Amino acid sequence: MSDTKYEKMTDFTLTNYDRPSSLNLTFTATNNGKIGTVVFKVPPNIYNVSGGGLKGVFTTVQFHFHWGSNDSIGSEHTLDGKAFAAELHFVSYNTKYSEFKDAKNKSDGLAVLGVFIEVGDRKNQAFSFLDEYLGKLVNSSSSVRNITTFALAPMLPWTTLHKFFRYHGSLTIPGCDESVTWTLFNDSVQISREQIECLRSLAYASGKKMVNNYRPVQPLNTRTVKNSFLHPSCPLLNSTSIIIDRNAGLFSLLLLSALFKH
Ligand SMILES: [Zn+2]
Repeated sequence: MSDTKYEKMTDFTLTNYDRPSSLNLTFTATNNGKIGTVVFKVPPNIYNVSGGGLKGVFTTVQFHFHWGSNDSIGSEHTLDGKAFAAELHFVSYNTKYSEFKDAKNKSDGLAVLGVFIEVGDRKNQAFSFLDEYLGKLVNSSSSVRNITTFALAPMLPWTTLHKFFRYHGSLTIPGCDESVTWTLFNDSVQISREQIECLRSLAYASGKKMVNNYRPVQPLNTRTVKNSFLHPSCPLLNSTSIIIDRNAGLFSLLLLSALFKH
């Protein structure tokens, strides 16, 4: 268990996240079976992330998922020791760099927004793209191009974005420096059983079912995990410093370099 430290941070500004792009742009979805996830590439310089204690403006270039073979595993981070059925990552790079590949090895190069996903009874319309496209992405390297853009915001816990955890971490690709400022939102979102089964129906390049594509929670070592909000059950304690039993695992983006070769 690692404690987190309260730090007041500004609210996030998520530019254009709340609507489809008005420009004639599209997303591309790919089953990256070698690395083991499904990636939705989004056009840069449209969906931007700033605030939330981040220094600078980061532009979102893709989102992808990690998930388990059953509902009790799948997320790359845990909250109070609890794993979730899936975790969604929005990957953005710092616009002070001209492109992703210039940013990915810089200490302030990348920002990832992480969302915990649980399984519930109701279909979540924000994730209807899973029902719509994943059937065409079962095989490794398959892609769906020219996907009409859709709003990203409904995939996030939109009304409680001010409650998050923050730490600085690294890519696991050899030679990469620590380049990721991580944000994990405290509140999860829910998708239906049918929707998570869409993810579980995908296959790796080997033909094996793509499940449990998460990296186990790593020791935190000397890193500090900050939390942006006061603990609802004991606010007084939070006015000091270290408090909450929140366990945020260090984690890695195994994916990034390969994903962006395409
Ligand atoms: Zn990820």
